[in-house]
Amino acid sequence: MQANLAYIGIGSNLGDTIATIHSAIAALEKLPQTRLITTSSFFQSAPYEASGNDFMNAVVAIETTLTPAALLEHCQSVELTFGRERPFPNAPRTLDLDLLLYGHETINNASLIVPHPRMTERAFVLLPLCEIAPEIMIPGKGLAIHYLPQLSQQRIDKLQVETLSTNTR
Ligand code: AMP
Repeated sequence: MQANLAYIGIGSNLGDTIATIHSAIAALEKLPQTRLITTSSFFQSAPYEASGNDFMNAVVAIETTLTPAALLEHCQSVELTFGRERPFPNAPRTLDLDLLLYGHETINNASLIVPHPRMTERAFVLLPLCEIAPEIMIPGKGLAIHYLPQLSQQRIDKLQVETLSTNTR
């Protein structure tokens, strides 16, 4: 099977969020049939349709021959290893992994919708995505970067490299 370029959104707002994002990226890098291509900066964002502390977010690009369904299953297993519980919708989460894009595919079934249906409404997805893929197109929606101006009221800050390194020691 030909390798597909996929983008995964990573979020955490419980516990040591920076360490969690680092570990999640390491776990994604170890997925079978998968190669990590790029990692965005880390971004701190206000909870959006969610409760609890600020979120830490990042987006990674991977190349994979896993099917979209298999990739989603692997992402859900990684979430579980971080002890994610879902006591109520949009509860604070140790780790949330969203399959944002899978090649140029559009998928819409009971367990998976790609492109991720709410990605164009979320600065914490689009900013890191456009940082690593400034010309990325969202199937059915056009250039991702076109959606950024209308999200400027959402609070989100790129973490400085010094913050990252002191927090991961
Ligand atoms: P959440 O609790 O926000 O992580 O949502 C997880 C649920 O969304 C699971 O039941 C998934 O099957 C479903 N889902 C649908 N599309 C996606 C997607 N593109 N990425 C991640 N989860 C998805």
